[in-house]
Amino acid sequence: AVKILDLKANPPIFADVKNIVAIASGKGGVGKSTVAANLAVTLAKQGYKVGLLDADIFGPSMPKMFGVEQENVSIRTVGERDLIEPVEKYGVKMLSIGFFVNPNQATVWRGPMAGNALKQMMQDGDWGELDYLLIDLPPGTSDIHLTMVQGVSVTGAVIVSTPQDVALADAIKGIDMFESDAVNVPVLGLVENMAWFTPEELPENKYYIFGEGGAKRLAQDKNVSLLGEIPIVQSIRESGDMGAPIALKDEHPVAEAFATVAHNIV
Ligand code: ADP
Repeated sequence: AVKILDLKANPPIFADVKNIVAIASGKGGVGKSTVAANLAVTLAKQGYKVGLLDADIFGPSMPKMFGVEQENVSIRTVGERDLIEPVEKYGVKMLSIGFFVNPNQATVWRGPMAGNALKQMMQDGDWGELDYLLIDLPPGTSDIHLTMVQGVSVTGAVIVSTPQDVALADAIKGIDMFESDAVNVPVLGLVENMAWFTPEELPENKYYIFGEGGAKRLAQDKNVSLLGEIPIVQSIRESGDMGAPIALKDEHPVAEAFATVAHNIV
């Protein structure tokens, strides 16, 4: 395997971070970034010091989800070191591969650049003291995040999946990767996203569009926790597109669903 990141860095990476939580998925498009963004703002609302590192080189979506696409990261020089200042929004310190890499460039060109940018965000990011640093990993089990989880001491991984069989099959690969001897990161559990849909005019009805209970069964089979279930809700998508994650809204039922997930990992 190609080693893209050399993380034997000096000074130590994430020295003042208490918990590093990787957010992963087997497949793209299952809502991994949406869960990461909402979990980050939920933990921040609860008073934790939270950071979010968007390492999804294939589709860095955090700048958009936090409404900071136009922001430029600044550099602060401390002694001999140039520190990259995270953008701060909704109480979350955030750095994204999207700030460094042109999203219109083909992934094949982006790969090595993204690897370097990621390394820099980890080594030189001015993260300071954090209770939780969430890392939004690329989907699947690529070299980049293998190296990444090996290079730092990750507290645990959250796996996001829809209830659909193809997504669950890939989620299994993710769980197996984290639990392998080579990676050896505890799996904190599964989040079932897009679990069901309830139309506004039929508030009692649940439609299991991607299948019912798949994540619960998988969690039992693999002996990992089911951390929570998030329904398909139009405002989840809209709020993501608008740059203000839905979990910011205290009274919203979806905010409660994310609070449950947060409660199960702290
Ligand atoms: P991934 O990070 O796994 O590629 P995203 O978080 O980018 O997936 O989500 C893919 C799309 O689905 C986005 O447009 C997002 O707004 C939408 N989405 C994710 N979860 C939900 C949900 N529970 N309800 C409605 N839309 C969702």
